[in-house]
Amino acid sequence: MTGGEFFGGEAGPHRCSRSGCTEDAVWAIVWRNPRIHPEGRRKIWTACDAHVAFLSDYLRARDFPVTVEPREKGAS
Ligand SMILES: [Zn+2]
Repeated sequence: MTGGEFFGGEAGPHRCSRSGCTEDAVWAIVWRNPRIHPEGRRKIWTACDAHVAFLSDYLRARDFPVTVEPREKGAS
């Protein structure tokens, strides 16, 4: 899998997803809303170091399944 395919189209190119933040993203927050997303569907937010906790907590507070991964590929 190529990096471009994995991150394409969701939150913009390699920028933190936090509104107003222009930092480079170093984390990928992988999540799903079980109420509207079918099984296997995955949404990805990208986050900088400063906002990865904010964004993942925001999703966890809604009882969404959340996984935080380093944005560098090959780290799994
Ligand atoms: Zn940020």
